[in-house]
Amino acid sequence: MIKLNKLTKVYRTDEIESTALNEVTFDIQQGEFVSIMGPSGCGKSTLLNILGMLDKPESGSYEFLGNEVGHLNEKGRSDVRKKNIGFIFQNFNLIDELTVFENIELPLLYNKINASERKQQVNALMEKIGIAHRANHFPQQLSGGQQQRVAVARALITKPPLILADEPTGNLDSSHGNEVMELMCELHEAGTTIVMVTHSSHDASYSGRIINLLDGQIVSEKQNKLAQAAV
Ligand code: ADP
Ligand code: MG
Repeated sequence: MIKLNKLTKVYRTDEIESTALNEVTFDIQQGEFVSIMGPSGCGKSTLLNILGMLDKPESGSYEFLGNEVGHLNEKGRSDVRKKNIGFIFQNFNLIDELTVFENIELPLLYNKINASERKQQVNALMEKIGIAHRANHFPQQLSGGQQQRVAVARALITKPPLILADEPTGNLDSSHGNEVMELMCELHEAGTTIVMVTHSSHDASYSGRIINLLDGQIVSEKQNKLAQAAV
């Protein structure tokens, strides 16, 4: 599904150049659940943003479903993203002016799902993820953990084939964190490909493969046989 070859990203400000990703190469097969781990600042979010086509690399290639992403224009990338990718942002990126219901509904609107279907799907997911009682609240009226759950629901609502999750349990207590991870496992078992950035080795233990980044480079990779056996 994903093929990266020598992907490099350099951030430039007036005087400083910093290499956030340095020749990162790996493949992710359809249906895999992969964790990306590493210390703060090692390039995890940069990598996920490029996978989500929200940012562009300096050099190297990124093939998604057999197509070179670098050859797509802005609209092409946006179309591929809306159709295939659910993104859970580290900082949520919820829309302050929209209610919880409306935030979760948005991707269904983009995909032109009719109103009654939208209502039914959003209500069912809000119920499942324990946020239904906040349907008409705005993001600023929610705790960090509740905002995180809305962000997760918004990424899952269209059942995209690829979920990219940037520290999806980072703002949750352990019981809500485990609920999010159980949801991830359910999606994975249903065939969704998941790439998750995490600090937590507990969360990573749910995934089938762990990629360790350090200073923008892959330093090690290991299969997680226990998680694979569980699927
Ligand atoms: P992580 O998610 O692993 O904590 P990031 O991908 O956010 O790391 O950042 C990797 C490196 O790139 C860091 O050194 C960070 O300071 C730098 N960086 C990230 N985003 C920007 C940006 N927009 N402009 C300049 N430097 C950035
Ligand atoms: Mg990050």
